Amino acid sequence: MSNFSIDTKCVQGGYTPSNGEPRQIPIVQSTTFKYATSEAMGKLFDLEAEGYFYTRLQNPTNDTVAKKICELEGGSAAMLTSSGQAASFFSIFNIAGAGDHVVASSAIYGGTYNLFAVTMKRMGIDFTFVAPDCSEDELNAAFKPNTKALFGETIANPALVVIDIEKFAKAAHSHGVPLIIDNTFATPVNCRPIEWGADIVIHSTTKYMDGHGVSVGGCIVDSGKFDWTKYPDKFPGLCTPDESYHGVTYTERFGLEGAYITKATAQLMRDFGCIQSPQHAFYINMGLESLHLRMKQHCANGLAVAKYLQNHPKVAWVRFPHLEGDASFELAQKYMPNGGCGVVSFGVKGGRAAAETFMKNLKIAAIETHVADARTCCLHPASATHRQMNDDELTAAGISPDLVRFSCGIEGADDLIADIENALAQV
Ligand SMILES: *Cc1c(COP(=O)(O)O)cnc(C)c1O
Repeated sequence: MSNFSIDTKCVQGGYTPSNGEPRQIPIVQSTTFKYATSEAMGKLFDLEAEGYFYTRLQNPTNDTVAKKICELEGGSAAMLTSSGQAASFFSIFNIAGAGDHVVASSAIYGGTYNLFAVTMKRMGIDFTFVAPDCSEDELNAAFKPNTKALFGETIANPALVVIDIEKFAKAAHSHGVPLIIDNTFATPVNCRPIEWGADIVIHSTTKYMDGHGVSVGGCIVDSGKFDWTKYPDKFPGLCTPDESYHGVTYTERFGLEGAYITKATAQLMRDFGCIQSPQHAFYINMGLESLHLRMKQHCANGLAVAKYLQNHPKVAWVRFPHLEGDASFELAQKYMPNGGCGVVSFGVKGGRAAAETFMKNLKIAAIETHVADARTCCLHPASATHRQMNDDELTAAGISPDLVRFSCGIEGADDLIADIENALAQV
């Protein structure tokens, strides 16, 4: 599949049936798999043979869908998780533990921020947050001898700041750690971070990939390019024997292409069990089959809405990376020449109260915590997803108290604009 366009990969990636096999991916709705001898099964437990034995570790449907996302991102190996949160957690916890440190962009999804700054901190992993537009010197100064990764989002949810992937990759690599990018908003249709130097890419598949609001899910893709063996002291989990698997050394047995994902599957999925259900993986695949078509409409609607809002007297400000004059415009053009996503952030004049009046008068756009759906939806983050943050933290994450996140679906742009026009008239 590697020579095909992203459009063809969306439709046909991950699965090529042989003669007489089902055209659509089979849903292997089975927790367990049968073996003729205990010996044959024992080889699987020792990671000596490839195969399925228990769906908590691996399932053929999930692997098929992970393979498609892997092909879309241009990675070497991938795994599905039960949610985007599980993907973020695994992506870091696979290479960092108590006593370690991670640098992350401050403009990230609120759930990720809470996971890092509160929950993983309680596990003994310390995070330093840097502004996504910080200078190279500021970025380099955030690293410590025990830093294990650098983390950021292609287009931050909901701040809509585009990260300079090359700048972040350079800083990560000069400190001997991988760059992990959450590519949820851009999707591999619009940006493939690995092509710009990222080492690991994660997704909340709940958003555009699913696209229809049916199933929560996540994915981790490894580029296979980060050379863990150059830093064996920093990444002992990948470079020294795993006693819980009879002394397997992941980098030796599975190579740079397979070590990271095999370890995450064998250890983290085994112990935490945040698996995707095969039925839900099937739904994600249905979404992926039209991802390239839907993204075009999301992006076109986003731009049309952003342009309309920009000239409206009741709108204080608009953020849309592909809107000329936006602070992220140049980075958006560089990393996502064909468009980014359909999410527009803006402030209604009159602050929090005006935003609430505006939102309750919308007819097509629904108030939801969801985003990146075929149906237009909107949210006031300061009173919902980001309500744990104080005003300083909100500002650092690029969110003002009046921010409305407006996620353009794939309806007609004129209808969305008419809906906004009517709701603003009530403010
Ligand atoms: C939603 C989201 C997540 C979390 O994903 P879930 O599937 O809801 O757990 C992570 N990152 C980004 C950018 C998101 O939008």
